[in-house]
Parts: sequence; structure tokens; C-alpha cells
Amino acid sequence: MQCPRCLNTDQEYFYRGSRGWYCRRCIPFGRAMLEEEKEPVGLAAIQKGSGEYTLRYPLTEAQKTVSRQCARLIRDTDVLLHCVCGSGKTELVIESIAMMLKEGKKVCFAIPRRQVVLELQERLAGYFPNAKVIAVCGGHTDETDGDLIVATTHQLYRYYRTFDLLVLDEPDAFPFRGNPVLHGIAETCRKGHMICLTATPDSQLLKKVREKKMVSLTLNRRPHGQPLPVPVIRIVPGLFMVLPLLRWLQKHRSLPCMVFVPSVRLAECLGVFLSLFFDCIVCTGRTENRDALIAAFREQKAGVMVCTTVMERGMTVENVQVCVYKADSRIFDEAGLVQMAGRAGRVFAHPDGDVLFLCRRRSETAERCAAVLQEANACAV
Ligand SMILES: [Zn+2]
Repeated sequence: MQCPRCLNTDQEYFYRGSRGWYCRRCIPFGRAMLEEEKEPVGLAAIQKGSGEYTLRYPLTEAQKTVSRQCARLIRDTDVLLHCVCGSGKTELVIESIAMMLKEGKKVCFAIPRRQVVLELQERLAGYFPNAKVIAVCGGHTDETDGDLIVATTHQLYRYYRTFDLLVLDEPDAFPFRGNPVLHGIAETCRKGHMICLTATPDSQLLKKVREKKMVSLTLNRRPHGQPLPVPVIRIVPGLFMVLPLLRWLQKHRSLPCMVFVPSVRLAECLGVFLSLFFDCIVCTGRTENRDALIAAFREQKAGVMVCTTVMERGMTVENVQVCVYKADSRIFDEAGLVQMAGRAGRVFAHPDGDVLFLCRRRSETAERCAAVLQEANACAV
């Protein structure tokens, strides 16, 4: 027996109810009956002209090459776009999406985190002015059909064998990463191929590439052509770590600085302390008015944001400098550190940035992160 929705085959999850067998592994999404034949979800036809698009900026030559290769490959195979942070990976799939829409095919752009969905829907609606681009996420589920659907990975259960192309952004991010139910649903919501976009592919994706179930395309250069900022690693005894942090913040006083810490408690304590010296805000998973705080931080172009890993992805702040406090903590993995360092030097006007990792002891993870970024820079030449 196999669940038609989450592809579970573990018999322990199957129960027999009054209507027959159903799967309890994906029960939060409603009962999936095993014996009922599931029909593909019927959605409206794609409107004429939906595939026409205009980008805000022209692609660089390197981006064009990857974008074209992707559009060519996606007809026959799944594609991994392994592109460094800040390389404009959304723009790399526009050609593939346009190609599908022109052929009247349904496309979904799926993202693990809810807060990015609305932002991306707006951006894609700007690129495809004739298409109906809709957002489907918690709080936005009244309308679930459009020409191009932007959804959280949690909402994909609404669509069965529906999409001719699924673009999966950051499959290595929480909560999609390592979640077998969400992985299963991402398989069964589509009938065509999938493009995975990430700077930090996890072992599962790399295994698919090795087994030739997926083709990997890489882009190691940001549009501005400058190398990625590589972290400086400093080892300082824990008690005194705040001193180099203060000196570093003082040095960048007129610029926005992000300080990543391993726990909410530490973020709150450090936030109170740093407020004595700097204009300081704290952003963690518990912060209620996070969106407003982030907007204000972007606006003021200086000050300190103390934050946890919730802020490691998807955030662009012009000219931001990055410090990871206790970077040797087990809370931080290599992918997370690469993403945090990847906040710096993203925009054309400020293609560089200072990245500092403060560690209590030697950390292989921090060293591997620096090595990965150096290697990407070397390959970009
Ligand atoms: Zn299931």
C-alpha cells in the first residue's frame, strides 16, 4: 500500500476507518483514502499572453547561459540550480516558466516559508503582467487557481498531479528540509518536472544528482561580478567575546550590521546590552512585529539587528555587515553559515561586505563554510 498523497509506504501509518483505509502520516492535511482513485485537480486554462514577460534588469551573460540551459533541460529532466546567495536565482527560472505558460501549462513556484510568498507573488506579477499570478499560503487560501501559482510547500496538498512545472525554492530550508510528508506532497502535486533553487543543496539533492535523477547547473557569480565576502574567523574565549563584537560594531557604526546568535535568549540579552551603545533591534522567531522591524531596519541604513537563524535566508539589506556570534555553536550548520555570510555584498552599489565569525574554539563547520565560499569565488573566475 502507498499513500497517494505523501507516498508513505510504512504500514504502521495506515488505518482502516468506516470509509476504508487511510494514511495517518499526512493526516494534518485531511484524510487521504487509499482505495479511492485520486483525480488530477482540474484548473482553468492558461490565459492568452500569460507567458510574455519583462525583467527589471537584463540578465548578465552568465545568468543568460544558465537560464537557457535550464529551459532546455526542464522538458526532459529535473534540474538543480546550485547558485550562490545573491546570484538572482528567481530570475534564472523566468525563461523556463514563460516557456511553459506559452504552451498553456500550469506552473507553481513553491517556497517553504510563508513570509516570502507574498513578496514573490508581487515580483512575479511584475514580470508577467498578462498572467494571473496568485499567492496561496496561510491566510490566503480563498483563491487557489491562477496561471502562475506561488504557494508555500504546505499548500501543495491542494493540487494532485496538477503542475507541468514545479519550481521549488530553497528545499533545504525549514520546514521542508527533512520533512518526508512535504517531500511526498511535492512529488504528487506535479505531473511534469521540477526545478530546485538553492545556494546550499542538502545531501538528498546531491544524491539525486549523483544518481542522475537530476541535472545540476551552477552559477558561482553574482550579477555584479564581485567575489563573495569570505568570513574572517576569530577564536576568542566565550567570556571576552563581547569585546571584539563591540569593536567590530564600532568600526561599522555608520552601516547596518546583522549579528546572528544561536539562541533566542542570547539574542534578547545581547540586544539589551548592545542597546546601551547602539541603535539596536532584536529579531527572533518570537518577535511579533518582525516585518515592521525589518522594514524599519532596511530604511534607516544603519544600526544593529541581533537575530537568530530565522533571518538567515531571503533577506537583502543594502550594505549590511555580518557577524556570527558563537559561530562554533552546534545550532549553526554549514548551509546556515553560508546563508548568513551570503547576506553581505548583495547589491550593485555595495558589492562587498565584512563578515566576521566569532568562535569559542576551532570549528570545522565554520572553516568548511569559508572554504566553500572561497571555492565558489575561485570557480567564478
Ligand atoms: Zn499520506
